[in-house]
Amino acid sequence: MRILLVEDNAKLAAVTSEAMRSHGFAVDRVGTAQDAEDAIAAVSYDAIILDLGLPDRDGLSLLEPARRRSPSTPILVLTARDAPSSIIDALDSGADDYMSKPFVMGVLISRIRVLMRRPALRHDTILSESNVRLDLSQHVAKVEETELQLSRREFAALELFLRRPNRVFSKIEMEESIYGFGEELSSNAVEVLIHRLRKKLQAAGAAVDIHNMRGIGYMLAEKRS
Ligand code: CA
Repeated sequence: MRILLVEDNAKLAAVTSEAMRSHGFAVDRVGTAQDAEDAIAAVSYDAIILDLGLPDRDGLSLLEPARRRSPSTPILVLTARDAPSSIIDALDSGADDYMSKPFVMGVLISRIRVLMRRPALRHDTILSESNVRLDLSQHVAKVEETELQLSRREFAALELFLRRPNRVFSKIEMEESIYGFGEELSSNAVEVLIHRLRKKLQAAGAAVDIHNMRGIGYMLAEKRS
């Protein structure tokens, strides 16, 4: 089990990594956000322990790239900030757990073990809204028991909507999350994509629909009768 320890306090980092090693973990230690980002890009870790007060950047800024790189790697935030708002920020930004300093080493190690033994629970691999269901690990979209035949982009669009039902996504937001950098994109690509996806949802009897909020964007919500 390989762990990334992001901690700029050299003494604390040494003690922590020593303790983790004695419990059988392999530990990579970095002291800056930049080094952490490089490590996350290069190595697939089993868990990340993240300090927030880093010399170059706030550790919170690492949560999103880490999530993108490996959605199932648990991240435990370990920091001196103990205000409830800091805890909420960290958890909302994608941390799986939070511990305030000072901490008891044995508790940290137990928590890491707990995080690592439930990979299936930590991340939603099933997204659903009403009778529409998306299984991300199997890459299957269903309305009731009817499987939808979706293109890669239609699937990505549906995933985006199901992650935030009743939220309006602008055309730009949709383009950015569905199409990669430098992909050729016609000006009506999103409209065409939504049109196809709506037709497939309706044909399968979905109880939700993608509503066009004129001039604002698109939203997945209950079907209007
Ligand atoms: Ca620090």
